[in-house]
Amino acid sequence: MVKEIQLRITLKEEERSDILILKSARVLDIDRQDITGVKVLRKSIDARKPKIILNYKVAVYIREALPKTSDYKFDYKDVSAAKPVHIIGFGPAGMYAALRCIELGFKPIVLERGKNVKDRRRDLKAINQDHFVNEDSNYCFGEGGAGTYSDGKLYTRSLKRGDVRRIFENLVFHGATDQILVDAHPHIGTNKLPKVVQNIRETIINFGGEVHFETRVTDFVIKNNSIQAIQLQNDKELPVEKVILATGHSARDIFYLLHKKQIALEAKSFAMGVRVEHPQHIIDSIQYHCSGERHELLPAASYGLVQQVNDRGVYSFCMCPGGFIVPAATANGEVVVNGMSPSKRNNLYANSGIVVEIDVHKDLPKYEKFGALKGLEYQKNLERLAFTAGGRSQVAPAQRLTDFVEGYLSTDLNDTSYQPGLNSAPLHSLLPKLIGNRLRKGFQAFGQKMNGYYTSEANIVGVESRTSSPVSIPRKENLAHPQISNLFPCGEGGGYAGGIVSAAMDGERCAEAATGNL
Ligand code: FAD
Repeated sequence: MVKEIQLRITLKEEERSDILILKSARVLDIDRQDITGVKVLRKSIDARKPKIILNYKVAVYIREALPKTSDYKFDYKDVSAAKPVHIIGFGPAGMYAALRCIELGFKPIVLERGKNVKDRRRDLKAINQDHFVNEDSNYCFGEGGAGTYSDGKLYTRSLKRGDVRRIFENLVFHGATDQILVDAHPHIGTNKLPKVVQNIRETIINFGGEVHFETRVTDFVIKNNSIQAIQLQNDKELPVEKVILATGHSARDIFYLLHKKQIALEAKSFAMGVRVEHPQHIIDSIQYHCSGERHELLPAASYGLVQQVNDRGVYSFCMCPGGFIVPAATANGEVVVNGMSPSKRNNLYANSGIVVEIDVHKDLPKYEKFGALKGLEYQKNLERLAFTAGGRSQVAPAQRLTDFVEGYLSTDLNDTSYQPGLNSAPLHSLLPKLIGNRLRKGFQAFGQKMNGYYTSEANIVGVESRTSSPVSIPRKENLAHPQISNLFPCGEGGGYAGGIVSAAMDGERCAEAATGNL
């Protein structure tokens, strides 16, 4: 017999290795010898009160063997001689589209502008140390897309868009920890993601698919409202039948190309702001009500904040406890920051994007002339401004949080995890009022919600500009573009995802659509 129950465990109790069996026996009023095993279905931390509680949802196996394997089966078959589907981009959307094609009996041919995970590392080093951005291989471009050297947080609000569990199970199948199946806030960590991504590539190739790195798509040959061929950076032309376009929100050349070819695009609202970095112990002490170090069984604390300021949302985005701020530019001449953390989340800093909603239809009147690309041009200008304010390298402009809010240039800055370095800059006057004024009010409100958050020990770093795509590529109910019958815009670049999991789910759906299985 299997019974599902909820357990509340204190930190003291958690120190006992047999606590789940003990407590389950007590709650079910049965002999502990009758319990053959306890499977954790969900785990979360309730830190609202000083006495911290770990909430467990468990399945208790009573005189019945604990199942060893997962319920999920991935039906990969040899597709080497099957009909092809061309997939542009090998981020989460492209990877999951390719895997789904194999399950459905089609051969994925992936074209990726960046390098494999191993070679990509050298280019990340070059950004951090030499301030040189390889425009095809960086924190956003390359094997695994922006998802590889990301934070690897796996929560999504897009539960209706697909089967989240299936996405997680497939990550576990490819080497991710099965802890992600139970944690309320699952996280893989930037140090573990590359291996998972590499395993996914190996599955694709082993079952007869193709993955081509350093193969940027530069043009489409279109006839009779359908793409006949794809042009590659080496001037090769590749005849195609179905094309899944999963190039992400940073592939500006693709947006420009579609715009030039008069393939319909739409301006999309998005958000921009800065990244704020606190010493992790400050966030721990606020969230865990402790004055010294956090309890060893507790993970680095995180937070989620939101405040409405003058009709626009100001909110925390991609919060990385125990993490690093990283340079996420995709071209030289711009500074873009983002965040990530290792699986142990054991760095000394907590960082988070703090961004302001931009209503692309109301907020950018001066950019109207750019049509569907108005948000993109605004985003680009802000990134150039950050480049200039940082000192024309990957050094980022920064300010102490309290100086930003009170309107002073910082005479010095706090230490940071951002490797290229920081330059003190008057972000309070440099940022457009639309963003800067709301951020200042937002930070004050956050200080009221989290006592100790508003502190001169925190820096703000500019700019956090790639939160989601400023452009969307329309598609019909069958997920094909309204003008181009065999083009399937997919993932974050199309405006259909906002993170790893939602991009992966959209990848699967686009594969189903492109193969006639939706
Ligand atoms: P992308 O991942 O952007 O992939 C697009 C791919 O297309 C890239 O590999 C690119 O090289 C390729 N490409 C572009 N143009 C071309 C072309 N012309 N020809 C061929 N290939 C091309 N999300 C989360 O859910 N959790 C997190 O913790 C998280 N942390 C992040 C941390 C960082 C530092 C960054 C940068 C992002 C983070 N994200 C996180 C966001 C997440 O990575 C993206 O939402 C996700 O990767 C989007 O998936 P995608 O497949 O749609 O696009």
